[in-house]
Amino acid sequence: MIRSKDNSPSFKKGCPKGGVVIRKRSLDAKYVICFVLSLFVYVSLQSQPLVIMHTNDTHSQIDPYSYKSDVNVGGFLRREAAIRELRAENPCTLLLDAGDFSQGTPYFNIFKGYMEVRLMNAMHYDAATLGNHEFDNGCAALAARLKTAEFPVVCANYQFANKKLAKVIKPYVIIERGGYKIGIFGLGVNLDGYTAPQIAREVTYLDPVETARKMVAELKARNCNLIVCLSHVGVDTTIQDNDYEIARQVPEIDVIVGGHSHEELNPPKVIGNTRICQMTNRGKCFGVLTILNSEF
Ligand SMILES: [Zn+2]
Repeated sequence: MIRSKDNSPSFKKGCPKGGVVIRKRSLDAKYVICFVLSLFVYVSLQSQPLVIMHTNDTHSQIDPYSYKSDVNVGGFLRREAAIRELRAENPCTLLLDAGDFSQGTPYFNIFKGYMEVRLMNAMHYDAATLGNHEFDNGCAALAARLKTAEFPVVCANYQFANKKLAKVIKPYVIIERGGYKIGIFGLGVNLDGYTAPQIAREVTYLDPVETARKMVAELKARNCNLIVCLSHVGVDTTIQDNDYEIARQVPEIDVIVGGHSHEELNPPKVIGNTRICQMTNRGKCFGVLTILNSEF
């Protein structure tokens, strides 16, 4: 069980030097980090809103970057400032990552993914799941660097041959915050074709729908009143396993925070009572899902 960590993140350690422009406000119109605000109001004046901040597929993009029409966007420093601001405004927040925080810039090649984890520690992530690129340097390397994570990494539909990795990855985590008891479980994509065959062989992929059903049953039995699935399965409907299908098959999931497809679901896709979120890639944007719900 994890309690709220409201202290402002220390940004001294792990802070990249050079090439980063620190603006007074990260939401400066000129240097914008996009926000998606989805307000689901089952209005209760008593219950305080739960603000879920979420990232996916940040891909080792530590500095701001420019690409096509995106000029000087993103960057860890800007994200950290925006997160700190939202935490100051909202006493009840969660910060989640849906995987593939590794790979994509020379930072990963040089520092082997440790810098990304350290920066996520500094931002006080509450939970993350595994993307396929987390495996790029192999299971042993992944286990070693996730041991440095100060946030739980959850994934319920992988079985690992590597014992150290099996020990560090949990199927779910339960977080109590602001009157909510939030069960968060993880789902990963089928690694066949997404990572080297010798690495994929070390990971047994379990059916995400069946796994999600089991997770929902367990989390409900533990009296969770909000079920969040952190998914790196993706939303490609040409593939059998996708977040929309998971939402259809397992309607008890309240929120799917997704990744892998680099989609911008703005506003979140709603299937039944499930909100499915995903917010581009490379940390250009992060999503903000605000829930006011007296039913939880
Ligand atoms: Zn991916």
